[in-house]
Amino acid sequence: MTLFKELAALCKSLEATTKRKEKTTLISGFLHTLGESEIKPAILLIIGSVLPETDGRSLDVGWRTISRVMDRKGQTTLFRRDLTIHDVYDTLIEVADSEGRGSRKNKVMLIERLFSDADPVEAEILVRIIFREMRIGVNEGMMMEALAETVGVPGDLIRRALMMTGDIGKVAEEAVLRGEDGLMSLEATLFVPLKPMLASTAKSPEEVIKDHGGKTAFEYKYDGARIQIHGKDGEARVFSRRLSDVTKSLPDVTSIIRSFGIQRDFILEGEVFAIGGRGKPLPFQDLMRRFGRVKDVEEMVKRIPLRLHLFDVLYLGDGLLIDEPYEARWSELERLVPHEFLVKRIVTSEPAEAEEFMALAMKEGHEGLMAKRLDSKYRPGSRGKLWYKLKTTETLDVVVVAADWGSGRRRGWLSNYHLGVWDGDEYLVIGKTFKGLTDEEFRWMTEHLQSIRERETGYTVHVRPELVVEVVFNEIQKSPHYKSGYALRFARIRRIRTDKGADEADTHQRVNELYEKQFEHKDRL
Ligand code: ATP
Repeated sequence: MTLFKELAALCKSLEATTKRKEKTTLISGFLHTLGESEIKPAILLIIGSVLPETDGRSLDVGWRTISRVMDRKGQTTLFRRDLTIHDVYDTLIEVADSEGRGSRKNKVMLIERLFSDADPVEAEILVRIIFREMRIGVNEGMMMEALAETVGVPGDLIRRALMMTGDIGKVAEEAVLRGEDGLMSLEATLFVPLKPMLASTAKSPEEVIKDHGGKTAFEYKYDGARIQIHGKDGEARVFSRRLSDVTKSLPDVTSIIRSFGIQRDFILEGEVFAIGGRGKPLPFQDLMRRFGRVKDVEEMVKRIPLRLHLFDVLYLGDGLLIDEPYEARWSELERLVPHEFLVKRIVTSEPAEAEEFMALAMKEGHEGLMAKRLDSKYRPGSRGKLWYKLKTTETLDVVVVAADWGSGRRRGWLSNYHLGVWDGDEYLVIGKTFKGLTDEEFRWMTEHLQSIRERETGYTVHVRPELVVEVVFNEIQKSPHYKSGYALRFARIRRIRTDKGADEADTHQRVNELYEKQFEHKDRL
């Protein structure tokens, strides 16, 4: 049985190097020393994600509990047992499984026992695992490479299996126990959401048409939230962009879907947005109030009605359609769904026609267009050039790392937000802003940020880097003031992106790229 101490030491070594190759070698070297049953738990602990994204369970242990446990720790270290990798993993799963009456007490008891057996380095790593913030620069890609090397199977097979299941633990288990055959047998299953395929940013329809071979499909990029709907034997379940089950909050969506009377099993994908009195989209924040809502759902359905527009079918009958070309999937979708519930779309080779279509989308209050290559397969979880997004305003998804207490009208609110981007090692601030939010949103931010507070210095509250906000800005400037080297000029929050995780926010690398892009239309000194 391998000790957790060794895994904690590995995490420290991984933290000490920024080189990808070195990290992969360190990980596979470590995995080689483990027993078969230890590989899956070790991998999940190292990436700081004991439960897959699609798992409904959560540890549900707050910062306050951990600080209390840490404070008491000094008094309870008389009889320490050596923690093994299994001890830690199994206990965390037990914490997640603990539900219902008395569960809070049970969770605290389990966590307390774990920490009382941990030495300081182990405790530090445990905290990072519990809050899913390893900060050791290891991503799923590296982990898959290391796993492929350890079990001696091709990396492509591991990547395919991960694409199908989105569950690295299951992939590791299959790879270890059944090798290539096991990996090949992993298929997507109904009611387990697939990761969404993502788009790259493009500058103009002209560029996209050229890149897509002279002709492409343009669809409205609705200003809403993405959903995936799975259906089987009359039952329909809805999953959010972050793959959580939101069926209970969206009964109006499931009833629309049922009205199509699709007789076969299916997975559909689309965008929902909220509409106001004049039939125009409501702000994203209002839409988000519908997601995750479990109380007074019926009333919310009336207050914030939704529109649904579907753009893909990923599964039909008894098989996945993701390897079919986009055009074939679209034809299938047209057969399944009444026209009014499809996204607005044109196929063209004329940039001018696309420009006109884009102007229409904007006029109707949407974000711009998506462009989809006609012969493209659906690639879950990947962001490539098969799909492009065209927007008129450049935005960045950044992570709130701290906030200042406001003064004057904003007294009592955390109102000036420090915006960070990940550079592979840490979050670096690229600006601050208090612009763009309504009073209600300020209140929400204040409450939310306090719930993820790490420490307070002067009038600044430092928080766990979890909350993503989408910002618009005039320009990216070089800054001697921030360690990131950049500062956003006139940044304003456009949306609070509770539908995105911090791991999906834009990076320092992306800021670099956007900075350089500005010089296409500007001179340099
Ligand atoms: P963004 O932050 O711009 O919403 P994203 O990171 O969520 O983007 P991208 O792949 O970059 O994802 O952009 C596509 C997003 O646009 C989708 O996730 C979806 O929510 C939304 N969307 C709106 N209309 C469409 C459409 N017709 N096809 C695909 N996605 C659409």
